[in-house]
Amino acid sequence: GATIEFCNVRKAYGNVTALYDFSLSIGEGEFLTILGSSGSGKSTVLNALAGFAAASSGEILIGGRAVTHEPPEKRNLGMVFQNYSLFPHMSVAQNIAFPLRMRGASRQEIAEKVQHALQIVRLDAYAERMPKELSGGQQQRVAFARAIVFSPPVLLMDEPLGALDLKLREALQYEIKEIQHKLGCTVVYVTHDQREALAMSDRIVVLRDGRIEQAGSPMDIYDRP
Ligand code: ADP
Ligand code: ADP
Repeated sequence: GATIEFCNVRKAYGNVTALYDFSLSIGEGEFLTILGSSGSGKSTVLNALAGFAAASSGEILIGGRAVTHEPPEKRNLGMVFQNYSLFPHMSVAQNIAFPLRMRGASRQEIAEKVQHALQIVRLDAYAERMPKELSGGQQQRVAFARAIVFSPPVLLMDEPLGALDLKLREALQYEIKEIQHKLGCTVVYVTHDQREALAMSDRIVVLRDGRIEQAGSPMDIYDRP
């Protein structure tokens, strides 16, 4: 895992301020959840960290290195989104191999790493299937495999279970924790679902209108509803 620091990060879109003076330190291997209602600024935090939206001011450090002005591909982050659809014309294995191909990995390395990622999400038998042949839960597990295949020190997840039904969500919550333990990565997780946040997190930051409203362990947050 890697540490993450937000130092007085502010983000405005025109005259709309999405995030005010946001400061937060995340520990190596920590599972940190950003919890808040729609429009509170959760995606803005992730987009600033990922480099999809440049911070208006402030600094962001990953593993002690300032990445504030670096493009997304230099930040070496794994990412999963709610509707991050797989490439429909590629098989499961080709989808998972994609980030490795982008990085110029060798054929041998790609084969090994794709196989390993398939095992971690228990989809070994599905390598040659096409995404449309899989259930929604299986497709999202392929998205997890694609996000972790290059062993990123940080994994970002934005409502990754939001499109799934309750039973499947609970099963995949457990699998995400398992994946994190196997990889030892730092996870920044975004959800509007308090129960999900309480079940999964080491620490929860509650956002409201672009500011931190409270922060603490699941016990701390649960005690102050
Ligand atoms: P959340 O993820 O909690 O729903 P967002 O970070 O998406 O919140 O949005 C926070 C605020 O910033 C909202 O008022 C939203 O409308 C605004 N916002 C987000 N992205 C943009 C954008 N690209 N352009 C303009 N306003 C945006
Ligand atoms: P979320 O629940 O993640 O906030 P939204 O449906 O609100 O999802 O937003 C989807 C995308 O549109 C996000 O990337 C967000 O940054 C962008 N967005 C949100 N609000 C606005 C806005 N007012 N103008 C332009 N883009 C926006």
